[in-house]
Amino acid sequence: MRRYFKATTHLVFGLTLGSAQCTSTPDTTYQPQHLDFEEARTRMVDEQIQARGIRNVRVLEAMRTVPRHEFVPEAYRGLAYEDSPLPTRSGQTISQPYIVALMTESIDPSPGQRVLEVGTGSGYQAAVLAKLVRDVYTIEILPELAKSAAERLERLKISNVHVREGDGYLGWPEQAPFDSILVTAAAGEIPEPLVEQLKPGGRLVIPVNTNQGYQSLQVIEKDVNGGKKIRDLIPVRFVPLVRPR
Ligand code: SAH
Repeated sequence: MRRYFKATTHLVFGLTLGSAQCTSTPDTTYQPQHLDFEEARTRMVDEQIQARGIRNVRVLEAMRTVPRHEFVPEAYRGLAYEDSPLPTRSGQTISQPYIVALMTESIDPSPGQRVLEVGTGSGYQAAVLAKLVRDVYTIEILPELAKSAAERLERLKISNVHVREGDGYLGWPEQAPFDSILVTAAAGEIPEPLVEQLKPGGRLVIPVNTNQGYQSLQVIEKDVNGGKKIRDLIPVRFVPLVRPR
């Protein structure tokens, strides 16, 4: 396994998955892998994120720091810093780096905040948030993903992310209210429990299905009187927010 992993790290810069899967030659002249990943991560931020208009310096720094390759299945590590979403286990996806940065910037994170994420998946988005706010509460409906994300975050010594298995549509009432809420699965409508669990002045960012057949990434700002101001960012494609039967 180890040998296979080392070989695939050569593929960081744009080689195909096909070749990543069949590479198996041991490489004794290998350079420390973290340097390859670090360089790839710097390029990712410069070319995919900053170039597309993300300006928040703390968000850019978090994206430069969090080791995305640790959050993707081993077979995809060579593609971890590419400009695309990748599969997690269980048929779910880890969002494209730019979308993670955009969603993160849209909540304007600051160090004292407590943020809720719905749709833990690999834990990558939660790990990025963990660099920027005080505490991250994240809910995942698939038990095996909740468990593996919690284990991964612990292994990476990220201690301010709290993972819970369950239906995130209902939020996490015991920990509410939150400064901001991110939903990383597409909903048919804005979940009312999440709006309720938002502080006045707080933001909810969520992909919502439109009746034109696409999803729109929306930012909902709750005002002090409980009113909502909705802003559409961009069209996106997320896996659906599912509800238990
Ligand atoms: N944020 C993740 C990617 C999320 S993919 C990352 O950084 O890797 C969307 C995730 O939402 C999937 O893991 C899916 O299982 C989960 N999900 C779908 N419906 C859900 C619900 N009702 N409550 C919580 N999680 C849900």
